[in-house]
Amino acid sequence: MPEGDTVYRSATNLNAALAGHTLVRCDIRVPAFATVDLTGQTVDEVVPRGKHILMRIGDHTIHSHLKMEGSWHIYRTGTPWRRPAWQARAILATTDHNVVGFQLGVLDVVNRDDEASVVGYLGPDLLGPDWDADLALQNLQRDPDREVGLALLDQRNLAGLGNVYRAELCFLRGILPTRPVRDVTNLGKVVDLAKRLIEANKDRAERTTTGNLRGQRTWVYGRTGQPCSRCGTPILHGELGDSALQLRDTWWCPNCQT
Ligand SMILES: [Zn+2]
Repeated sequence: MPEGDTVYRSATNLNAALAGHTLVRCDIRVPAFATVDLTGQTVDEVVPRGKHILMRIGDHTIHSHLKMEGSWHIYRTGTPWRRPAWQARAILATTDHNVVGFQLGVLDVVNRDDEASVVGYLGPDLLGPDWDADLALQNLQRDPDREVGLALLDQRNLAGLGNVYRAELCFLRGILPTRPVRDVTNLGKVVDLAKRLIEANKDRAERTTTGNLRGQRTWVYGRTGQPCSRCGTPILHGELGDSALQLRDTWWCPNCQT
C-alpha cells in the first residue's frame, strides 16, 4: 500500500496534467457512478489528502484511494497504456492527456461541498496545509493501551503513514512496534521524525529512510534475516493488526528496539 509521499507525488503530477483543462471524456467504470459524466467541465485542481486523492471538477469531487494495487497513469494522447484496459476504473481525458486510474481500491464521486463524507475522519495530514503536530500527538495518545505500530498506521490519528514508515520510525526511535503507546517516552519525537522523513521523500522518485539513495534505503523494512546496520542482529519479521483480518507485515531489530 502506498505511503503518503507516493500519493502526494501522484496528485502533484495529476494536477499538472489536468488542472485548468476541460474534460473531453469522463468514463467512471464503477457501477454506482457509471452514469456520472463530467465531460465538458474543467478540472480545478487535484489534491492529496493523506493517502487519498481528490480531483475537484466543477461541483464534484472524484475521490480515490490506491489501496494495494491501484495507480493513476498519465498518458499523452495517442500513447499506449502500460496496464491492461480491463483494469481501468476511471478514464479522464483532455485534448492533451489520458489519465487512467487502474485497480483503484476506492473510487467514488461526491458533491464537492461534501468531501468531508469521504475524508473528514482523517487526522492531520503530514503533507497537508492542515498539519498540526500537537493534534496528531493528542490523537495518538487517545488510546494508551494500543500498540504504537498500530496507532501510527491509523489514519484517524495522523494521515499519510504506511507500512514502510511505521517500521522505520519504530526502528529509528528504538521502539518495538508492539509497545503500548503509554510506554513510549517522547512520542512527540516520533511525530516530528515522521514529518521530517515524509517531507524529505515527497519529491523523490525513490524513498529512503537511511539517507542513502543508492544502496540500502531502509533500516528494517523488508530486510527479514539480514543483519541490522547498527548492531548486526538479524532483523525479525512479524505481523501486526487490530484483528486477524487486518494483519500487516512489520520488521524490527530485537536488539535495538525495546
Ligand atoms: Zn540492531
